Amino acid sequence: MSRFLSEKFSDLEEYVPGEQPQDIKYIKLNTNESPFEPSQKVIEAINREEISDLRLYCDPDCKKLKAKLAETYSVKPENVFLSNGSDDILNFAFMAYAEKGAVYPDITYGFYQVFAQLHGVNSRIVPLKKDFTIDKDAFKGQTGLVVIANPNAPTGIALKLDEIEELIKSNPKAVVLIDEAYVDFGGESACRLTEKYDNLLVCQTFSKSRSLAGGRLGFAIAHKDIIADLEKIKYSTNPYNINRLTQVAGLATLCDDDYYKENCRKIIENRKFTKIELEKLDFEVLDSKANFVFAKSDKISGQDLYIKLKEKGVLIRHFTNERISEYNRITIGTIKQMKELISKVKEILGEKNENS
Ligand SMILES: *Cc1c(COP(=O)(O)O)cnc(C)c1O
Repeated sequence: MSRFLSEKFSDLEEYVPGEQPQDIKYIKLNTNESPFEPSQKVIEAINREEISDLRLYCDPDCKKLKAKLAETYSVKPENVFLSNGSDDILNFAFMAYAEKGAVYPDITYGFYQVFAQLHGVNSRIVPLKKDFTIDKDAFKGQTGLVVIANPNAPTGIALKLDEIEELIKSNPKAVVLIDEAYVDFGGESACRLTEKYDNLLVCQTFSKSRSLAGGRLGFAIAHKDIIADLEKIKYSTNPYNINRLTQVAGLATLCDDDYYKENCRKIIENRKFTKIELEKLDFEVLDSKANFVFAKSDKISGQDLYIKLKEKGVLIRHFTNERISEYNRITIGTIKQMKELISKVKEILGEKNENS
């Protein structure tokens, strides 16, 4: 830290992303990326001509992409907002709506806490129930911003659509942000409810189910007045925040929906395989509707398993937060990767037995 940094940022604890090693080839099951490459349509769309056009600024309105998203989700373009990853949209939502405070669960996406701190927002943190489900009754009658990841991270547990609707209805004085980063892996989207409720903001991303994490593309669906607020903030920070190539890639992605749906189906199948195999090894595995599982074992600590798997070339995500420190979050990859994971876990448990 320099001696010049504004005092308000001196205590800010920044978000720590999962490891992104650039050297050794790991089986990378730590940041919930897709194991599948983008569609051939995306690969063909990024051509010489598009690269040549990089000399020109991009369309700040992302008109083509917005129209296609509106069509895909059966809403109007005025109900769609696009930004540089959904993290960007979360940031804007905290700026726009959290003056009277923000409310979110204790165990959830770690960035909510960081945005709250960044913008000097008061947070009310609601503990998950013992079984790691969201205590939705504790979220009623809030003001400011209510943030729920559905499915939640890193648990993978999802609320039903009628439970989400209840949450929206019971918070007429707050904006209810539903972060649907993982919804394509078996959750129910609240997108359609944006027609009915003017306090609902649904966020999604191309990073997980649409194999575009490195492209940085997120979108929101909401009442047009909420979208206008977000546009105001985007145009006051960086109107060109989605680069040309990502806009082209995003559009091509939406033109090959079946490819991505098939990939999601494979992930769901591989998730089932992974859960069953881990349970055979006496792991407790939460019921996930996301592209990861959250699991713990009485035979090995969360930290130990993370370290030993890394030594064997498999990266998973371990969190030090006390309530979940015995767990690990394991991204679902290809079936080959998951078989490799299971075989390494067996090796590690076997080695532990020999030593004890
Ligand atoms: C991955 C993730 C995001 C961020 O997605 P980007 O679009 O890559 O910024 C947002 N929310 C949750 C819960 C996530 O897991």
